[in-house]
Amino acid sequence: GKGIAVLTSGGDSQGMNAATRAVVRVGIYLGCKVYFIKEGYQGLVDGGDNIVEASWSSVSGIIHKGGTVIGSARCKDFTTRPGRISGAQNLVDRGITNLVVIGGDGSLTGANIFRQEWPGILDELLAQKKITEEQRGKYGHLNICGMVGSIDNDFCGTDMTIGTDSALHRIIDCVDAIVSTAYSHQRTFILEVMGRHCGYLAIVGGLTTEADFVFIPENPPLPDWPQRLCDKLGQEREAGQRLNIIIVAEGAIDRNGDPISAEKIKQVVVDNLHQDTRITVLGHVQRGGSPSAFDRVLGCRMGAEAVMALMEATVESPAYVVSLDGNQAIRLPLMACVEKTKAVAKAMEEKQWDLAVQLRGRS
Ligand code: ADP
Repeated sequence: GKGIAVLTSGGDSQGMNAATRAVVRVGIYLGCKVYFIKEGYQGLVDGGDNIVEASWSSVSGIIHKGGTVIGSARCKDFTTRPGRISGAQNLVDRGITNLVVIGGDGSLTGANIFRQEWPGILDELLAQKKITEEQRGKYGHLNICGMVGSIDNDFCGTDMTIGTDSALHRIIDCVDAIVSTAYSHQRTFILEVMGRHCGYLAIVGGLTTEADFVFIPENPPLPDWPQRLCDKLGQEREAGQRLNIIIVAEGAIDRNGDPISAEKIKQVVVDNLHQDTRITVLGHVQRGGSPSAFDRVLGCRMGAEAVMALMEATVESPAYVVSLDGNQAIRLPLMACVEKTKAVAKAMEEKQWDLAVQLRGRS
């Protein structure tokens, strides 16, 4: 059977285990030899015990766990050609020519570079007699399929990334907890949620918790935002609301591109309304805990589709990324999605907010 390896890279997210499990089980079901690569690209570069064959039972009891049981890492070595040559040698030694990468856009960009360089790297290994003529012939092409694991929902081409839904559950739980303890006092709470370039968690978190005000990077507020914020909070108090909730994405900015931090918002509220104001930074809580039903199913579907994409790939196929479109897992050309994602970040850097929102599309 064909050799498939799966690795998780970059920041972890809930649902990565469901995806890993699906890759292993669908792969074995189809007669493939499936390998785990532990610790992301570092395990690929280092080889040895980091690359182990997976069995059906080796992925039992992981679907309910957060994070990624096979480990994730950032890896400097893989950003260099010698690192990638070492990774290629490790794969060829084991007869692996299919690679599933679960990570963010950086990880997927790295995978695509690896795939493009593969034939040249194999020629180099052959010239150095580190692989045989037979291996060069048999393993001459590397198939790649990516899945996006990210709690931020910051990737173009997919409606949802793996982990976003679970992170929203954490955010909602936190806001609900704050609302119930804080109701006895008149207070304003400012919650900072993740999202450096993407306000999805902030906006959906705000919608689902009745927040009074939300700050996101893609749609910076007009310069008079302090006034409008204070008017809104004041109105709510007058209407009898005892507690105000403000949600700010970590990457929130104003129209000059300067950060709007939780501290800055607090200052505005305290200076103008003299309200008792508290900041909660959710941080890694959002990545923690067990994956939601949605993320488990999403991981399962995407993992299965990734293996199908690899099985059907030919030399002409591009590197794929599995995406959720409507309610269906489909495959799309990886680099087109990565480039669109980068174009969104660029549009935001250039303060072209409307373009950024338009490019982002449904997610
Ligand atoms: P994410 O995948 O979450 O966007 P990073 O951008 O940190 O996270 O990338 C994770 C890892 O992917 C890096 O540590 C590196 O090993 C690899 N990687 C990222 N970009 C590249 C690249 N341009 N070339 C090769 N490897 C890359």
